[in-house]
Amino acid sequence: MRSMSSDWNILISGWACTLIGTGIIFTMSEPTGLLVGTPLLIAGFPLLLVALSRGRQLSGKQADPNWSPSPESLPDAGRVMYRVDTSLDEPIRTSILCGACGEVDWVEGKKPLRHICTGCGILLWNEEEE
Ligand SMILES: [Zn+2]
Repeated sequence: MRSMSSDWNILISGWACTLIGTGIIFTMSEPTGLLVGTPLLIAGFPLLLVALSRGRQLSGKQADPNWSPSPESLPDAGRVMYRVDTSLDEPIRTSILCGACGEVDWVEGKKPLRHICTGCGILLWNEEEE
């Protein structure tokens, strides 16, 4: 959270420098406006770029569209185990890791009411009303 707030500080300072710089150039008479405003713009733009590129890296880490659970066998606890992960961002996709064979299935949208593993054909769950 600390790195997030420092990124926000950079972004806000960058915006402030750029806005104030632009404002001074347009409102004050030349050459005073250019003399005061240009250094602010020069200082503000790199700050903005740094903050924006950092923000993109952060959000890229949080929502990796290529993320998928590692195919592995889950411990056998007397019934078929499975793991379901639904993405938080568009496009909404759900990965289903079958504990019996380690197969990972992908379905569009949220967790379906029932799912049969495409790897071993086991009915992993059925929440459909009879
Ligand atoms: Zn399976």
